[in-house]
Amino acid sequence: MRGLMMDYQLTIPALLRRAETLFGSREIVTRLPDRRLHRTTWGEVAARVRRLAAALRQLGVEPGDRVATLCWNHAPHLETYFAAPLAGAVLHTLNLRLPPEDLAYIINHAGDRALLVDAALLPLFERIKDLIGVRAVIVVGTHGHLTDLLLDYEALLAGAGPHAAAFPEPDERDAAAMCYTTGTTGRPKGVLYSHRALVLHSLAIALPDGMDLRERDTLLPVVPMFHANAWGLPYAAAMVGAKLVLPGPHLDPESLAELYQAERVTVTAGVPTIWMGLLQLLDQQPGRFDLSSLRALIVGGAAAPQAMIEAFDERHGLHVVHAWGMTEMTPAGTIAHLAPGVEHASPAERYRARARQGRPFPFIDIRARGAGGLVPWDGETMGELEVRGPWVAAAYFDAPDADDRFTEDGWFRTGDIVAIDASGSIEIKDRAKDLIKSGGEWICSVTLENALMGHAAVAEAAVVPIPDARWGERPLAAVVLKPGQTATPEELTAFLAASFPKWWLPAAFEFLDRIPRTSAGKFKKSELRERFKDYRPPDQGA
Ligand code: ADP
Repeated sequence: MRGLMMDYQLTIPALLRRAETLFGSREIVTRLPDRRLHRTTWGEVAARVRRLAAALRQLGVEPGDRVATLCWNHAPHLETYFAAPLAGAVLHTLNLRLPPEDLAYIINHAGDRALLVDAALLPLFERIKDLIGVRAVIVVGTHGHLTDLLLDYEALLAGAGPHAAAFPEPDERDAAAMCYTTGTTGRPKGVLYSHRALVLHSLAIALPDGMDLRERDTLLPVVPMFHANAWGLPYAAAMVGAKLVLPGPHLDPESLAELYQAERVTVTAGVPTIWMGLLQLLDQQPGRFDLSSLRALIVGGAAAPQAMIEAFDERHGLHVVHAWGMTEMTPAGTIAHLAPGVEHASPAERYRARARQGRPFPFIDIRARGAGGLVPWDGETMGELEVRGPWVAAAYFDAPDADDRFTEDGWFRTGDIVAIDASGSIEIKDRAKDLIKSGGEWICSVTLENALMGHAAVAEAAVVPIPDARWGERPLAAVVLKPGQTATPEELTAFLAASFPKWWLPAAFEFLDRIPRTSAGKFKKSELRERFKDYRPPDQGA
């Protein structure tokens, strides 16, 4: 017998209607390139979304067409997040930190029809414009310096008229947005999100044991809107009615701390390197900023070192929440909260639990596979994490050769090596491709990095393999020391020896000024791997 409930479609326009009718006066604040603050509301945004959707259609954007953005986090980008899907099109966010050739490849592979670009990013656009076939280019934030080819965003909206067309309700299974993986392995691959996936993802991340998002919250996504939908926060903010603060291009720790204080931000989210920078600032200038409004710093995209979580808590009273996800998962997969019982454990145990990547969001199923099949949830046995769920990609966009990322029974192979404990909490040990194979055994680079970043003198650490005649590979630790601090290889080795077997200890240390970053702000280990691929530890002779 079938249930007798309405077949209400879970769509992006439904989220926007809610924001407009219930939370119309809630603010959206943007830090402009010249650092001034621009203020609007969900109500005004919704009205402009309808104009933009109508304008896109007038420009020839048809249902299913891709509308690309090359933008920082700001209100017009937010408007496009809703306008493209409202017009039946697909929002395609482009990572502005990618090399021009990669951007051109992605734009052409996606078949983007229209492109919105920040005025400040026009030099980047100039470098790709002859390589791409986009029909309409709309510039955000100009002051009337346009050529015939480039349309001004504000003029376009003004021309669309206040009563912009009504659009047919999309099917919830239609594509609403798309994002390419950064292609750390092979060519970038496109992930195509449905309306339904984005809406269910919004519901899940807003849950109290998720990111705990509420109407009274003020959210500041540091994570770029061009990276995995800013972790779904713009859509979730519309759903719960939260105020949004968008930092524009100003992502340095000082600018962020100023905004947190001035706008009384309650929840913020970004990759660990952002929080490492903020921590250094707060340590250097304690008491300069009043961050008492902040109740959660959500960290994901790479492993959050336990020492960092502890330092924020103990020294600054700031609560870090650790989550794991992937572009292919819209992106939220798991999040770490203390289960009942663990709350009363010792501080050390609580920090250890919070440094794990945590348990899956509702409707995300997890399992891990080792050489001998699925591994037990014993907290020790390692395997590659496989996932499935309503916001997990079932295939890549137009990439028939990527089938090996999916199992025969339809799970997605994450490429992350984990151990799952009895409570279902995962610990990411490493990416499969970053594991160091030494004498037939695995050394987990992420585990060593996190331990090193627990040393008082170490600001950043990345561990990569170097060749070794006897063992195949051995670990090299690239270390950035905190300003004014010193540490020798011997001291760091002794520090690690307290927690790791001898054969895990790095064969070499290299002291750097900075660990290179990926376009998403993570440590770029591929660059270090390349740099040290012919490295010979001094004791092996030349
Ligand atoms: P990219 O491959 O460019 O980093 P994503 O942004 O989709 O693309 O990153 C997903 C990957 O980031 C995961 O597969 C995992 O390796 C890593 N990751 C994400 N969150 C965490 C976390 N909390 N701890 C450790 N690794 C993480």
